[in-house]
Amino acid sequence: MRVLVVEDEKKTASFVRKALESEGFAVDVCPRGDEALIAAGTTPFDGIVLDIMLPGRDGLSVLRQLRAQGNRTPVLLLSARGEVNERVEGLDAGADDYLPKPFVIAELVARVRALGRRGGESKATVLCVADLSLDTISHRAQRGGKFFDLTAREFRLLEFLMRSAGRICGRMSIIEKVWDYDFDPGTNLVDVYVKRLREKIDDGFEPKLLQTVRGVGYVLKA
Ligand code: CA
Repeated sequence: MRVLVVEDEKKTASFVRKALESEGFAVDVCPRGDEALIAAGTTPFDGIVLDIMLPGRDGLSVLRQLRAQGNRTPVLLLSARGEVNERVEGLDAGADDYLPKPFVIAELVARVRALGRRGGESKATVLCVADLSLDTISHRAQRGGKFFDLTAREFRLLEFLMRSAGRICGRMSIIEKVWDYDFDPGTNLVDVYVKRLREKIDDGFEPKLLQTVRGVGYVLKA
C-alpha cells in the first residue's frame, strides 16, 4: 500500500513516515499543498494523509481540487485545531476520515490501514473509460461492442491504466505495478506493451484513449 503524507512540520512528517514504513507501507512525503496536488495527479496512491494547514495550498483546497478532478483516493485529514466545523467542512469536501492533532501514532496507523481497506475506486469490477470497458473478473475487454483478448500482462497493464484513468502513469510506476519490479530494467518493455495494447484498444477507434506524455509516461483518458 502506497501512502502520500502531506505535512509541512518536519518532525511530524518524519515520525509518521517511520511509523507507516515500519508497518510495511510505502511512503512519499510532501511538505506543500500545491506539490501534493501534482504528486497525487501523477502517482496512484492507496491513501493520502493530508494536513490542513500547509504552505502553497491548504489541505481542504487540495482535497476539493482532487475530488473535482475525479480523484477518489481515500483521504485522512489531519488538523492542529480539531474544531468541529473544520471536521464537518473536511468531510463535506470529500475526506474519508479525520484525525485531530495531537494524535497517538498507533491510531494514525490504524486509520490509514482502514483507508486502504476502503479502497476508493479500486473495488469496481467493471472499469469504464469512454466506450472502453474491462471486466476485471472475466478479464474481457471491449470497445464499442467489439471484444478483444488480452494476455495476462496486457490485462494488468490495461487494468492499471484504467484504474488510474486521467492520471499520468510514469514508466517506473507501470513497471512496479504491472511487472512487480522495484528497479528499472532499462529496456523498452513498457513501450512495447503499450504499443500492443494500443493496437487492440485504439486502432480503428476514435478518440484515441491511450496517450503518450513525452518523457514521462502514459495516460488513459477520453
Ligand atoms: Ca501544518
